[in-house]
Amino acid sequence: MAAIRDTLIDYLRDAYAMEQQAISMIDRQLERLESYPDFTARLRQHRDETEHQVERLETALHRLGTDSSALKTMGAKLSANMQAMMNIFASDEVIKDLLASYTLEQWEIVNYKVLIQTAQAAGEVEIQRLAEESLREEEAMASWIDSQIPIITRSFLSRFEAGGQQAAR
Ligand code: MG
Ligand code: FE
Repeated sequence: MAAIRDTLIDYLRDAYAMEQQAISMIDRQLERLESYPDFTARLRQHRDETEHQVERLETALHRLGTDSSALKTMGAKLSANMQAMMNIFASDEVIKDLLASYTLEQWEIVNYKVLIQTAQAAGEVEIQRLAEESLREEEAMASWIDSQIPIITRSFLSRFEAGGQQAAR
């Protein structure tokens, strides 16, 4: 049980770093996107949800006796895989934003599903419940993005045709 509890703490820390990165990615997208009001509105909504997800992870870590001052530096710590993924998708193009956003949500979904099972194995029912709340938000965001892929792509193509790359932002 002690080993599972330590593993749970590790996964919570990874998720905390992941959510910090999610917020900074959303902020970069919101700075650049100009012509897709539905997308930016949904991103703003999900940014708020993400802040709550960070709070849930802080609550979970505190429950396991992790001191919050140690958490402040963790936002900078990020897995090499995640960093590589963000770099691949760094671009001015809304299509790349779709790729990055959808990929990030799938990444988050897997992380929360793993967290749920690990919390359950550790007997941490409250942490399991918190992870399930965040999972529902990630799944809703993923399915919203999925539904928008054809709409945003068509909009991008017609803007691109009319005015080039800059107009297509
Ligand atoms: Mg998230
Ligand atoms: Fe998310």
